[in-house]
Amino acid sequence: MFDSENRTVVVVGAQWGDEGKGKLVDVMAERADWVVRYQGGANAGHTVHIGEKNFVLHQIPSGILHPGVRCAIGNGVVLDPDTLAIEIDELVEDGVDVEGRLYVSDRAHLVLPYHKLLDAESSASKEIGTTGRGIGPAYEDKAARRGVRVLDLRHPDRVRQLVERGVEHANARLSHSGSSKRVDVEETLDLLARLAPRLLGISEDVGLMVYRAQQQDAAILLEGAQGSLLDVDHGTYPFVTSSNTTSGGAAVGAGIAPMSIDAVLGVVKAYTTRVGNGPLPTEIEGALGEEIRRLGNEFGATTGRPRRCGWFDAVVVRYAARVNGLTGLAVTKMDVLDTLDELAICTGYDVDGELHTEFPGDIAALEKLVPRYEMMPGWKTPTRDARTLGALPAAARAYLDRIEELCETPITYVSVGTRRDQIIGLHEHV
Ligand code: GDP
Repeated sequence: MFDSENRTVVVVGAQWGDEGKGKLVDVMAERADWVVRYQGGANAGHTVHIGEKNFVLHQIPSGILHPGVRCAIGNGVVLDPDTLAIEIDELVEDGVDVEGRLYVSDRAHLVLPYHKLLDAESSASKEIGTTGRGIGPAYEDKAARRGVRVLDLRHPDRVRQLVERGVEHANARLSHSGSSKRVDVEETLDLLARLAPRLLGISEDVGLMVYRAQQQDAAILLEGAQGSLLDVDHGTYPFVTSSNTTSGGAAVGAGIAPMSIDAVLGVVKAYTTRVGNGPLPTEIEGALGEEIRRLGNEFGATTGRPRRCGWFDAVVVRYAARVNGLTGLAVTKMDVLDTLDELAICTGYDVDGELHTEFPGDIAALEKLVPRYEMMPGWKTPTRDARTLGALPAAARAYLDRIEELCETPITYVSVGTRRDQIIGLHEHV
């Protein structure tokens, strides 16, 4: 992955999230010096299986599981200080040395208790199916210039002022929505007073740190959360997350120059899933959909919610390849399809009798389209032990070849199981 040309690499989800970015980042972190998160918050749920242990990391980059790798949470992330402290404590309990290896951007905005309450009480959040972790309301406050940043914690008077303003706004919203719940300024301030020393102890100018690391030719991995189709600009709006998940967001959210990004790896499942409401053109209804959900264990790492399952949608991934400038694809969960007789790949959409091969921005079009499928034979052979492309059954190779062709992006990794070693690397570079 990292070579002399590719030193700063972005990993993004190229579908609707949960593509297995956590595993890919974990594999690639072996050769990274830095892993940096650039957007999202505690709604991410990367699962990494190491030995008998499962680590679910919500905010801390999964690179933390590699000793010697430095991890940073960039300015584009909205940080939940309470769950960050818990996550650090859990890692330490499991014997992971975090000291001196984890930094948070002093410019990152904080997710506060009132953001979580607003999320929980909002009917719009319910309709979109948010994780209820306060991410959306925290980004709203950021855009409205009401947010509290990590660096504000250095100034208790300023924090009080900001929290008073935030609470006033939150209570007005709660009252307006008919909720009887209210938030309290002092409770929030107590929480922040308790967590401030810890947070300030690891706060840094992350953009500057990464810049300096780039100047020393360090291998830097920028880890995206959620997926490209959940990007607030490029996703299936309004059924999206509140940040830019695509590679452009990596530069903004880490505080580095766009030209300093050398490669962008898009992670996709060998099929498609989506959690929550919103368009999923290739959704498989009924028993087969349930079967794939069971085989792929498609239940959210953060929320436990069942994910909706569908066929591989090449229109979606080709779109994601364009918007992100993908230089490579990692196809995960090939093993999940091992027992299926036949597979479908969506190659275009029929809308009112017309064929569309570009992903539409209008969700009304997405709701009425009929996917056009190409059928491919299943391989009906376990793939979990394959470590080279040649060890995969011919039908599996044909399936991957077709994905590569339709998405116009070279496949650089194929993942065939949850474990770190269950991966096939196809090219030296992305
Ligand atoms: P992320 O948010 O993109 O990191 O995705 P998650 O980690 O939430 O979800 C991916 C899930 O799929 C995790 O439970 C992984 O262990 C699992 N996973 C990743 N790659 C593979 C694979 O190749 N095969 C199987 N069976 N599971 C995988």
